[in-house]
Amino acid sequence: MTARYYTSTAIYMVIPSEGGHRYRFLCEDTVTPVCTTSVYASPDPFQTALTAWEKEGRQHFELCPRCGKWIAADSYPAHASHCTPPK
Ligand SMILES: [Zn+2]
Repeated sequence: MTARYYTSTAIYMVIPSEGGHRYRFLCEDTVTPVCTTSVYASPDPFQTALTAWEKEGRQHFELCPRCGKWIAADSYPAHASHCTPPK
């Protein structure tokens, strides 16, 4: 059996904000910001990142089945055509 690991969210930055935290999700290929969420109040900003991802982040990304990176949906077609499968 081959185990395959996908990160559950794209890489992100936590931005302290009044009343909580915002999250800025980045394309894992170009490492550029794709979206910044509204403010989420939570004592655990890393746990809440999953909620922010499901509600506001994920819709802006495609998961590349070849390399397992979260790619900005806008640039995914170009990525997919250039992505080399890992050996
Ligand atoms: Zn890829």
